[in-house]
Amino acid sequence: MAPHSTRIAIIGGGMGGLTAAIALTRIAGIQVTVFEQAGRLGEVGAGVTVAPNAARVLDRLGVYESVRDAGAVPDGHGVYLNAMGEMVTDAAWEDSAKQYRNIGMYRPDLIDILAREIDPESIRLGHRLTAVETVPSTDGPDAVRVEFENGASEEFDAIIGADGIHSVVRRAVGQHPEPVYSGYIVYRGVVDASRLPEDWPMISQVWMGDSRHFMCYPLQQRRLFNFVAGVPSDRPLNGPWSGSAEVGELAAEFAGDGWDPRLQRFISSIEKTFWWGLFDHEPLTNWSRGPIALLGDAAHTMLPHQGQGVNQAIEDSMALATFLAAAQTVADIPEAFRRYTAVRMQRTAILQHGSRRAGAMFDAQYEFENLDKRDADIRVGRDFRRSAVFDYDAQKVAEEALTRFRKDKVA
Ligand SMILES: Cc1cc2nc3c(=O)[nH]c(=O)nc-3n(C[C@H](O)[C@H](O)[C@H](O)COP(=O)(O)OP(=O)(O)OC[C@H]3O[C@@H](n4cnc5c(N)ncnc54)[C@H](O)[C@@H]3O)c2cc1C
Repeated sequence: MAPHSTRIAIIGGGMGGLTAAIALTRIAGIQVTVFEQAGRLGEVGAGVTVAPNAARVLDRLGVYESVRDAGAVPDGHGVYLNAMGEMVTDAAWEDSAKQYRNIGMYRPDLIDILAREIDPESIRLGHRLTAVETVPSTDGPDAVRVEFENGASEEFDAIIGADGIHSVVRRAVGQHPEPVYSGYIVYRGVVDASRLPEDWPMISQVWMGDSRHFMCYPLQQRRLFNFVAGVPSDRPLNGPWSGSAEVGELAAEFAGDGWDPRLQRFISSIEKTFWWGLFDHEPLTNWSRGPIALLGDAAHTMLPHQGQGVNQAIEDSMALATFLAAAQTVADIPEAFRRYTAVRMQRTAILQHGSRRAGAMFDAQYEFENLDKRDADIRVGRDFRRSAVFDYDAQKVAEEALTRFRKDKVA
């Protein structure tokens, strides 16, 4: 167990940073301070699916019930449809043991639930990190100094960069990935469920058409519906990566005889939407350097087509806390970070590549546009998703790796 006097700074109060704060406190008994650049904790007004692999972690951290109760568990499996709304296949929605199911969460609700679990004294808002510096020591392990735009600076035993796709901490780890634009933007937002027809299915639905797709699923005890509509665009290449959008633009993207008329019915219920450029980066070659490590999008930004970005940040948090809990002293932290990196990098790299492939499938840009093959691959992908993604137990995998590392050390 790490000593209680260990002090770790987490940079970024998004879903990754807040989950890491809970995991490090509860699993490893470490004192954390979260630094967030914004003046308040918050998220965009849109949805996120908490998948079974993350629900399992949240359960062990003691927050699963709050998440499930605030979210929306669908009536059954989701569906992949073609543009006309005909069934292609059902989608995975629960783990093999049927213990955890996908939960549709309104993002601001998830942030509130996580933040409530953290001592308010340990969250510093309005702190935008500008510099990270290792402070060498002659008689003990190196410390890390963090500096902020507001003039504050402080030393910690270690820091974790959970500061998202534009991570500053990532540079201190010697990683400088170029963001890769997918060629797609998504229109995002939420709809009040009372504006939809009464018999609108309480499940996740994805329409996959010519170069574009439309997804919706329920949130917030079914009071809201999330929507994400992916369309090709060169917009982010020359300007900002997100902004407000007209509902009419979105409607025009899915108009015409080739599309299921139910889509226009859904879109006519939308009051407000915004667009968001879809970026990722190639997998990093390292996530840690000495007492500095990365987590969440800072380590592995991925396209959203498998709905795993946050879920992987939640898995990261549990793995990191498991390795830190086994560190005997502050001097052991760099090794704990290396072990964490070794276990997590491969899993998230597979999902980064898989998310690109899933996007290509949804948007029919797929191996000579052979839709029969696309549909067959989506069916195979459903079973892989259940066994390889949803059944994954991040804590168990980290504990097994610890046992292996210890045996290797003795040998
Ligand atoms: C359309 C869409 C749908 C998605 N759907 C899903 C889904 O269903 N399921 C899923 O698992 N994932 C989904 N994702 C991915 C998910 O949103 C991200 O992976 C997730 O938000 C990453 O969390 P994070 O905490 O690592 O980073 P972020 O959410 O980016 O948080 C980083 C935090 O760090 C702060 N910060 C940044 N720089 C600094 C600094 N210098 N100093 C201090 N603070 C700083 C930021 O203000 C922010 O609060 C989706 C993404 C998109 C675009």
